[in-house]
Amino acid sequence: MADIHSFESLGALDGQGLRFCVFFTGCPLRCAYCHNPDTWHKSGREMSPRELFDKIRRSKPYFKNGGGVTFSGGEPLLNAETINELRGMLESEGIGYCLDTSGSAPLTDEVKAAIDGADMVLLDLKFPTEELYKKYTGGSLETVMQTGKYCSEKGIRLILRTVIVPGINNSRDMIDGYIRTASPLCFEEYELLGFHTMGFFKYENLGMANPLKDTPPMDPKKLRELQEYLSSKISGEKQQ
Ligand code: SF4
Repeated sequence: MADIHSFESLGALDGQGLRFCVFFTGCPLRCAYCHNPDTWHKSGREMSPRELFDKIRRSKPYFKNGGGVTFSGGEPLLNAETINELRGMLESEGIGYCLDTSGSAPLTDEVKAAIDGADMVLLDLKFPTEELYKKYTGGSLETVMQTGKYCSEKGIRLILRTVIVPGINNSRDMIDGYIRTASPLCFEEYELLGFHTMGFFKYENLGMANPLKDTPPMDPKKLRELQEYLSSKISGEKQQ
């Protein structure tokens, strides 16, 4: 049984085509900029792999152009056992899945098997150094890199993602650091996402302290500039 936070039908953001997103509860990290703190703890909404499959299958007619299911959270790979049980059922219906992960779950055999079955992995590279990872997420860069390297070695399609937060990592120096850290990984794309404040109300509703309550949303123009800088440096390195 897996504890489920919520579902999102036919989202177009986290993976190719139209997606049915399953948000699991539970996360080993405590990112300062988390906009889903309501996924950290169990919801009490438990579902078996068969129940999840029946729900996912209802959206199958919409899974065209590479669409499918995206497992997100929280941290989906804490539920690797459930994903592995679902895998055969999804394959029997020709439904692929994508993992939207922080890469912070230890790389056990169950986690490896869940990654092996994925069409694509969207991996957060939250900070470029171990020190910053610890400071802003409570987690370890080493675990994330192990996950990224595993995907690279197995030829799993990998997309890296980083949330850019004003005053924390919105500089070209930081982008240079991310590029250095990502260099051992074999990835298709590297996307920067802007910090936003749309999840602030959740901290209030949950009575939790919001460590970035005074931080403004990321300026879209500055984000575009950093994305262009990152993309051009990566393509320059690939051509060398
Ligand atoms: S990994 Fe995601 S869900 Fe977990 S704390 Fe970080 S931003 Fe929030």
